[in-house]
Amino acid sequence: MNPAPRGPAVIPRVPMPMVRPSHPATAPPPSLNDPVQFLPGVGPRRAEALAKVGVRTVGDLLEYFPARHERQEFRTIEHLEEGMTATIVGRIGAVAQKYSRRGPTVRATLIDNTGRCSLSWFNAPWIADRIERGSIVEVTGRVGVYGPLAEFTNPKIAVLDKNAPPVDESRPARLEPVYPATADLPVRAIRKLILDNLDRLLPLVQEPFTESYRRERDLPARSWSIAAMHRPTNEVDVTKARRRLAYEELLLMQLAVTLARHQRRSGPAAPVLKSSPQIDERIRRRFPFRLTKGQERAISEIVRDLAADRPMLRLVQGDVGCGKTVVALYAGLVSVANKHQFAIMAPTELLAQQHYRSICRYLEGSRVRHSLLIGGLPAARRRQMLKEIEHGEMDLVVGTHALIQEDVRFAKLGLVVVDEQHRFGVRQRATIKSKGPAPHYLVMTATPIPRTLAMTVFGDLDVTTIEDLPPGRSPITTRVATPLEQSKAWDFVRTRLGAGEQAYVVYPLIDESDKVEARAATTEYKRLSQQVFAGHRVGLLHGRLPQEVREAVMADFIAGRIAVLVATTVVEVGVDVANATCMVIEHAERYGLSQLHQLRGRVGRGAARGYCLLMTGSVGGAEGERLGVLARTTDGFKIAEEDLRLRGPGEMLGTRQHGLPELRVADLIRDGELLRMAQRDAGRIIADDPSLTQARYANLRHWMESKYRDALTLAGAG
Ligand code: ADP
Ligand code: MG
Repeated sequence: MNPAPRGPAVIPRVPMPMVRPSHPATAPPPSLNDPVQFLPGVGPRRAEALAKVGVRTVGDLLEYFPARHERQEFRTIEHLEEGMTATIVGRIGAVAQKYSRRGPTVRATLIDNTGRCSLSWFNAPWIADRIERGSIVEVTGRVGVYGPLAEFTNPKIAVLDKNAPPVDESRPARLEPVYPATADLPVRAIRKLILDNLDRLLPLVQEPFTESYRRERDLPARSWSIAAMHRPTNEVDVTKARRRLAYEELLLMQLAVTLARHQRRSGPAAPVLKSSPQIDERIRRRFPFRLTKGQERAISEIVRDLAADRPMLRLVQGDVGCGKTVVALYAGLVSVANKHQFAIMAPTELLAQQHYRSICRYLEGSRVRHSLLIGGLPAARRRQMLKEIEHGEMDLVVGTHALIQEDVRFAKLGLVVVDEQHRFGVRQRATIKSKGPAPHYLVMTATPIPRTLAMTVFGDLDVTTIEDLPPGRSPITTRVATPLEQSKAWDFVRTRLGAGEQAYVVYPLIDESDKVEARAATTEYKRLSQQVFAGHRVGLLHGRLPQEVREAVMADFIAGRIAVLVATTVVEVGVDVANATCMVIEHAERYGLSQLHQLRGRVGRGAARGYCLLMTGSVGGAEGERLGVLARTTDGFKIAEEDLRLRGPGEMLGTRQHGLPELRVADLIRDGELLRMAQRDAGRIIADDPSLTQARYANLRHWMESKYRDALTLAGAG
């Protein structure tokens, strides 16, 4: 690869020409780092409101971009269409002011050459003082209907000169920036503040890219783009400006992840864990089945990573049941064969126990020493275990993230497997203690995430995707059902129970709360056990039950002593029962699609067909449409993409968890192409100057650090 882009990619900071302020009365232009309060019209109150939306400096204000641009058509009254946003010019007919329980209302009629329409304002009595019969006004707003007339409710209004010309419908539409607003920071205030200051702030904007760099990528200048976002002239310009700003945002992010990746790999060395045909053969003998293609590929990538002295940092993603545990165990046994220890960290104790159970099964008769480190062990047993681990007398340890991070010291740790399931807390993983070289890391996740998102959230990891499932899985039939179909749903579950199978009923909450009218698992449990499933044994499982109770309930369900398990989402990560074929999920609309997909992955794990019923209040409309995706496909990636499209990355991953700043302009669904370009460019820049210390990158480095300091620190800790 040719590492450096043609010409310097980034130019050093250039002093910008001073420009006289347009208002002679105001002070000379501030620096973009000045507090926003420096600007005329911003007092302490406004500054506080601005700080709440993250605008602290003058530069922040410039980068407070509109969420969208509203297209305003110039129309005559006869051409108004319901739902559109339009601007009309006309003469006020009558004005009336009324007081009702809802407060003061101003009503008026507006007349132009083509017809009449109605205007109304609530809680804005001053409007009545500004207009009178005969005033010529320009009105902008959304068009509604009031009786036979088109109506504007709370429109913007400007009183024009008596001789103002009527609306010219051939005038191009006007674009109005719509800013994210808050109660104490209305859109109008933001718009005015930005427009009042734009001209004098724009010259302060610096351009980090050279002409040629921009030309090659068809990117307009930074200050031009900022201006086009705030004071748009047409849609084409807005699109160009948005693309430029999105690119810049993505490039900074990709620089941060590429740098983090680079730093991790140049940190302390890792143990070299080599495989051989003998080792491979011995490990394979542990599995009573042929590995799938996906498993084989994952294993060969991992084996290659382990044999290098740089720590492996690999994410294995694949749908529930694709056999990730097998892959992890294979890797762990390579470590053990090289006389190094192996740890698996799971997000919950239930899941740690499950991993341990299946690992015990695979390791039956082997000499590999393994143990489960969970809470509630007798103190002496725990001390003993820790000693064995510290002295290298234990090969394999399974536990929860918290426990393993706390106080365990490993004699010779070769590999750490972090099972994230649906959680994306990968950034907490850094703190495991090990004497000697840094261990290799393998992160597993069962929520496949779209590629663009993986590039951002897991940009510092190598990603392996397992796309196939082991053969012989029976498909899950999923249906969306309304409360009206509830009794049919229960009938259906009873037929499955009659066939000797088991079922889950999942509720979103543990207790009834005033705020959320969910039927809680606890309340429903009573009803289900006494009425709906009378004659069957029903169990209750939720996170607030004491550990022993939870374990006993699980043991009963696994052994088939409980037929129906009423549970909160704890089943999502905890349970693997082949005989459970049926799952009813109440209030399905409260979950993300990926989460529902995870949940239903608990059924149909055996040879019998699985069924999932998604109960929701609304089968029609957007909600039914969203849930319908689950009925149509079982492809976790398609589902994840749909989830991302509908809910956005923050919601999908939990914003705080993924550790990267929110993207303001870029959109991971629309801007996939741009992201790949940014990734490629970031790779070249880092290859050219891994620490960004060359003078021509100084500007970029500074910029990236100010935005990504937290993410970089975290990455550096790994
Ligand atoms: P995941 O962790 O990806 O959800 P697991 O590793 O728990 O999946 O595997 C799910 C089930 O599939 C387990 O019961 C496991 O024994 C079985 N399994 C894994 N790999 C294979 C395979 N190649 N062929 C048949 N069964 C497999
Ligand atoms: Mg698993």
